Amino acid sequence: MTEDDPLSLLDELPDAGRIKSRKLSGSVATIVADASGLSSSERSALEGRLKQAALTAPGTTEARIALTATKPERTIIAVGSGKGGVGKSTLTANLAVTLARMGKRVGLIDADIYGPSQPTLLDAHAKPEAEKEKLFPVETVFGVRLLSVGQLVSAGTALAWRGPMATSALNQLIEADWGDAEILLVDLPPGTGDVQLSLVAKARPDGAVIVSTPQDLSLIDATRAIDLFGKTGVPILGIVENMAGYACPHCGESSDPFGQGGAEASAATLGVPFLGRLPLSTSLREASDRGRPPAAEGGSAAAAFEAIAREMLVQLEKVGG
Ligand code: ADP
Repeated sequence: MTEDDPLSLLDELPDAGRIKSRKLSGSVATIVADASGLSSSERSALEGRLKQAALTAPGTTEARIALTATKPERTIIAVGSGKGGVGKSTLTANLAVTLARMGKRVGLIDADIYGPSQPTLLDAHAKPEAEKEKLFPVETVFGVRLLSVGQLVSAGTALAWRGPMATSALNQLIEADWGDAEILLVDLPPGTGDVQLSLVAKARPDGAVIVSTPQDLSLIDATRAIDLFGKTGVPILGIVENMAGYACPHCGESSDPFGQGGAEASAATLGVPFLGRLPLSTSLREASDRGRPPAAEGGSAAAAFEAIAREMLVQLEKVGG
């Protein structure tokens, strides 16, 4: 500590690297520190340590701490589908778990007002905490942080939302305290409505993944979803074909209730990447219903999700996300 700068004692702190400026005016110390990458509780702890240290400087009776944070670089990926029931939420949950297993810091926004199923899929039933309107995502046991419209209101209420209410809920989820999450997956409602447009305007996703079953009807709807993202400048990372082929758990014989390969063919026609396919699987559905995402369990389902996640990251790299 020097006589003309009593606050120089702050240089000895382990947090010294975060201090951007310090000033003593009369007996009031003002310290600006960089809190980038810290969680809310870590920020409070940093503030407390700086305050306490500053108050030990001779002649200081008050310490004001201002914490700044650079906006973390974060990749936002929208997962959409033309219609409901094609497995969009199931895929999103398992992709998030896969990415977390690959060592990424992952957040998931469940914006599907028609069926906010992520709390069930990820077995996370706690309500998010909030501080001054800012929400804190719930930590799931799978290493994925989660916020869902289903945590804010009952599923039935969300369903009755009209455009502005749905979009304001989405904004609240996007602007939540995602801490150091580097990748955010957004489980969108099916179709091409207000929530999708609002996400594009507000969050500028780095890419979109479209889920479809192999049937023609589902693919026609998926094409509309692709069109919406394409027209708004969001790169399509690719199409995932879900419920493609069924291996009978009893006799092992394969059948194709919805056909197979339709999504891959459509991807080729539309000139968008094909990310992979998942078979119709009773065990996948049962595990999902129990809040045990197959991606967390290893085995062939986890391998299929990992292959899709890796291909998605390859495409993301190509579009510069
Ligand atoms: P969406 O989000 O498109 O509405 P969901 O992910 O909620 O669809 O899936 C709808 C239903 O289909 C769920 O019961 C889910 O467990 C089931 N499902 C999804 N993918 C598969 C699959 N590959 N095999 C069997 N069931 C599946």
